[in-house]
Amino acid sequence: MPDEVLIVGGGLIGSSIAWRLARKGAQVTIADAGNLGGEASPAGAGMLSPRAEFDKPSVWLDLGIESMRLYPSFVEELRTETGIDTDFRMFAPEEGIVDPAALLRALRCACESRMVRIVREHVTTVHPRKYGAVVIAAGAWSDKIRVTGHVLPAVIPIKGHLIGFQLEPGALGPVRRRGDTYVLQRSNGFLVAGSNEQDIGFDRTVDAAICEDIHRRAAQLFPPLKHATPVKRWIGFRPRSATGEPHIGRVAGTNVWLAYGHYRNGILLTPVTAKRIAAEIL
Ligand SMILES: Cc1cc2nc3c(=O)[nH]c(=O)nc-3n(C[C@H](O)[C@H](O)[C@H](O)COP(=O)(O)OP(=O)(O)OC[C@H]3O[C@@H](n4cnc5c(N)ncnc54)[C@H](O)[C@@H]3O)c2cc1C
Repeated sequence: MPDEVLIVGGGLIGSSIAWRLARKGAQVTIADAGNLGGEASPAGAGMLSPRAEFDKPSVWLDLGIESMRLYPSFVEELRTETGIDTDFRMFAPEEGIVDPAALLRALRCACESRMVRIVREHVTTVHPRKYGAVVIAAGAWSDKIRVTGHVLPAVIPIKGHLIGFQLEPGALGPVRRRGDTYVLQRSNGFLVAGSNEQDIGFDRTVDAAICEDIHRRAAQLFPPLKHATPVKRWIGFRPRSATGEPHIGRVAGTNVWLAYGHYRNGILLTPVTAKRIAAEIL
């Protein structure tokens, strides 16, 4: 068991690793620049669709399938520990949805009850020798953190818009999807429609024209949306690594672990990332 583990970033990835470590008795600190609300994590749609995302063999597909197998027990253990329902549902084997904001709330609650120390801090530099282990899980900002003795692999923010509608619960049924357009509905009736991709840096503007285009495309998939009015429009930054593959694992010969670059599938890959990183550290 290492001395204190420092996790930089408290989105779904950092929080889930912290929870997994703390359950095994590790002493864990999460340092997050925000209010541990995550950035991309609560902004994401919550589709869990490895087969639809990846039609060819790849690292992503293998990770996605493994993570889907872990999902039912992951959310059930969280529900047992916290009482929080994450609205996880499976429409088919290896195909489901989850409410990422609820998942993040549950992870935060579980971390707190497992005595994870949570500090609000914008980390600029980390000295790994001060800790038993360090995990970099700061999403699209990960490569901005200086880790003495290391150059972290680059990550690019890929901006995405989503829009939300309040409809009758159950109006939609399973997820509908065509290309980059998809619609899914939470149990409380909130319907999420997405999305788009822009490689334009950390621009937080919500673009009305892009939202209208998503609305038009979503209405083709689910015609009742044609005359519905969005009640919410928002953006997030998907963390895409420069290599195109996620960084999940130890920097060879060091006590530094990388857990970023999950791009369009960080919600899907949360259980498998937490399991792998926590097992390696422990
Ligand atoms: C529009 C959109 C739709 C998406 N839909 C899906 C989907 O349907 N399914 C799916 O699986 N994935 C989806 N994703 C992708 C998914 O949301 C991300 O891959 C995932 O949330 C990344 O999680 P993370 O914890 O790495 O990053 P984040 O949630 O971004 O968390 C990073 C954390 O690091 C903190 N931080 C940053 N810099 C510092 C610093 N210097 N010091 C301390 N803390 C710092 C931030 O405050 C933040 O809390 C979507 C993303 C977007 C934007």
